[in-house]
Amino acid sequence: VGQGNVRVLVRARPFLQREIESQCKCLLSMDSALGTTTLFHPDDIDRTDDGSSDFGLPLSRRIKDAREFVFDESMWSVDSTTKNTQFVDQPALYNKVGREFLDHSFEGYHTCILAYGQTGAGKSYTMIGTEDEPGLIPRTCYDLFQRIEKMTTATTTFTVKISYFEIYNEHVYDLLLPVITEPPTPLKVRESPVDGPYVKDLTTHSVRTYTEVEKYLKRGNRQRATAATNMNATSSRSHAVFTLALKKIQSDPIMDETTEETNSRIRFVDLAGSERANSTGTTGTRLREGANINKSLTTLGRVISILAESSLASKKRDVVPYRDSTLTWLLKDNLGGNSKTAMIACISPCDYEEGLSTLRYASQAKHIRTRAVVNQDFIS
Ligand code: ADP
Ligand code: MG
Repeated sequence: VGQGNVRVLVRARPFLQREIESQCKCLLSMDSALGTTTLFHPDDIDRTDDGSSDFGLPLSRRIKDAREFVFDESMWSVDSTTKNTQFVDQPALYNKVGREFLDHSFEGYHTCILAYGQTGAGKSYTMIGTEDEPGLIPRTCYDLFQRIEKMTTATTTFTVKISYFEIYNEHVYDLLLPVITEPPTPLKVRESPVDGPYVKDLTTHSVRTYTEVEKYLKRGNRQRATAATNMNATSSRSHAVFTLALKKIQSDPIMDETTEETNSRIRFVDLAGSERANSTGTTGTRLREGANINKSLTTLGRVISILAESSLASKKRDVVPYRDSTLTWLLKDNLGGNSKTAMIACISPCDYEEGLSTLRYASQAKHIRTRAVVNQDFIS
């Protein structure tokens, strides 16, 4: 049994063009060795003439106003010129969390990596990335097939199946349908005694090469964007869940016909933007969406806080409200059960309020403990 806390990592993205143009100040500093992220109040930072931020304020004042947080990793992706802080590009990100989680998958554990943060903070860049700078999902898939190729023998074989869905307005939509229906058909969530909550009629696709996965991923991402446009919304309001089911089959030629199967599920979740609905001045449909998104994210927040509290106080858990939202119900195992789980909190270098709220949220998640087991069956 792999008992352990949710791994929590923070990643700060570079300044966007518009932020550079409006001369935004960098409010962050990180120490990658200690894992600390420090957030400064904008009033506490002077901008120097060369455009960089200056933390050279009287120490007493800085200590009073700065907020320091400690995480498993504080990942600096703001610029590559800041001294004493390792710059985390996409390969470095994979080295810090992706590879280790794939190791767990090959050991037979279920895993889950969630990206949390406001819209524009870098969640999709971290999970999916770009053509030139692929993120965690493509890198994991690439490594997965490399390993399978090396490990396959006459008696050890592997199968990989993928699925991809989004949760929008508490409804689940398949992102990998061969033919897209208009309007899209929401799928139902059911519960199986063995596998827990699952999406009924969700399509799964067998894949044998990285190129095949890449094709599906592209199709799914395109579908996510198209669906959002058709529903007059933005994809930042949906939660996207990409799942790989890895099966390892080991047959024993001496024991004749005895086979050992290891099943692990690798899950990546690109969460909806965490910005508060009121700050965007939403009305009508948008407001309802906002409220519903909030329902999933608010429930996720409540679930995290109840789980964290019970670990801290090592007392019996209060009833965890997994069932209160589609997202938490489907992620039940990943949040409080049989899974090795990581959360990557994405932040902008220059948004104080959202940054603070994301860092506080992430801090709570650190206290959650899960109990992962190797998912192995013997069939004879
Ligand atoms: P989100 O999915 O959280 O809404 P995105 O991933 O779309 O945010 O990021 C917003 C913008 O910032 C995109 O243009 C993206 O390419 C860029 N970006 C985000 N993180 C990074 C990073 N670590 N390095 C370079 N560019 C980034
Ligand atoms: Mg996104």
